[in-house]
Parts: sequence; C-alpha cells; structure tokens
Amino acid sequence: MIATDLRSGVEQLGDMIAEASIIVPFTGAGISTECGIPDFRSPGGLWSRNRPIPFDEFVASPDARDEAWRRRFAMESIFAAARPGRGHRALASLYRAGKIPAIVTQNIDNLHQISGFAADHVVELHGNTTYARCIGCGEAYELAWVKQRFDALGGAPGCTHCDEPVKTATISFGQAMPEDAMRRATELARHCDLFLAIGSSLVVYPAAALPMVAKTDGAALAIVNREPTDMDGSADIVIHAEIGAVLREIAP
Ligand SMILES: [Zn+2]
Repeated sequence: MIATDLRSGVEQLGDMIAEASIIVPFTGAGISTECGIPDFRSPGGLWSRNRPIPFDEFVASPDARDEAWRRRFAMESIFAAARPGRGHRALASLYRAGKIPAIVTQNIDNLHQISGFAADHVVELHGNTTYARCIGCGEAYELAWVKQRFDALGGAPGCTHCDEPVKTATISFGQAMPEDAMRRATELARHCDLFLAIGSSLVVYPAAALPMVAKTDGAALAIVNREPTDMDGSADIVIHAEIGAVLREIAP
C-alpha cells in the first residue's frame, strides 16, 4: 500500500525494520543524487545527451576507448568528491547493527563501501567506476594509473600483462551481467524477511525481478522512491518521498 503521508509511512517502515531480522536493501541512483552523482538514465540525464558506448564498440575501436576514458576523466571531480548521503549512512547503521547481511546495488559510485560496508558485502550489479579492470585477464588498475598512461600515450592504455583494453570496472551496455553478482543478489532476495528497494525505478532487469523473488519466498517488500515504480502494486509499503529524508528518520 502507498503511504498517504510521510509521517505514517516512516512509522510503518520503522516498525517493519524493527521486526525484521534479515533486511536486504536494493539501491538505485536515487540514493546517490543528494551526493551529487547524476542519474545517468533519467530523462535529461547524461545518457540522453551522451550516447553510452556499447561494450562491443569499446572492444573494437581505439577511438571509442579514448572517448570512453575522456568522459570518465571528465566525471572524476564528481565521483572523487562524492561522500555518502543520509540514505547510505542509515543503511550502514543497520548493517553495523547486524540487520543487513549484504546490500545489492545498481550504483557504481562506491558510496556504500565508503559508508562502512565491507566490499564483500556490497553486491554490485553494474560494477564499480572508481577503479578499472583489464577486459582480458581481469587485472585491476587504479584510475590514476590509467590517467597517467593515457596522458603519456595520448590515448587509452592496454593491460601491462596481456595488452588487452583496460576499462572502468562497470558493466557497459551490451556486456554480460556479472553472473556471480546476479547469483548472490538472488540468494539474498530469497533469504531475507524484508526486501527494501530504495531509489530505483525497478524497471531495468534484474531490478525488476528481485523484489518478486523476495516476495515469492515470503519476504515483505518496502519501496522508497521519489517517483512511482512498476512494483508499487506488489509492495507492502510504498513511500514516495526524498530518500535521505525518509531513511534519516528510520536509522539516524
Ligand atoms: Zn590483462
């Protein structure tokens, strides 16, 4: 049911969180917008102005790789300066209290880790943009290393081990979903008693599927999002409000 006002919604969600012993949060762009991270997919967002570079194009074209890295370097001032918001901090507090075994996120900004989640306990469905990986052998690289090599070579560097392209550790369009992350997200959804979807429109697969996996296996479903989502009709509680304002009330 959709909360009629913020106060009653927050109270009801607070009760559900108090009663639950295993909470699995699922977060999308909406939790990070107050941290200055743009919602790439939103209308008017970066991706509607700057066509994303599909994975096969990145692999095939040195020009596409150069362009991808130029765009990423242009975003660095935003990602490097971003700090966890009220939503991240509230979830980190529930994590420290032992209520959250792990968190599933569509975000690539590393803010759950910075807020206090162990890296092992953040399941990233779309990867992480704060470091890079070789697409051949998987070797991890610091972005500062990529930038330094890019400047020295005048273009995107290859892996020092296998010479394959180095890419941000994100999942690009046309790139296979990370199987291990998908498996873990599904397991977490199946074994929680409260699935808490925050700041995601729950449209893009697998975001659209996980809430129903949780519900089918007996969990309660709570949704906090500024706009209506496709799953509102299936949720036990829906709060349409600013995420930081809601979560701050629940776990200050
Ligand atoms: Zn390599």
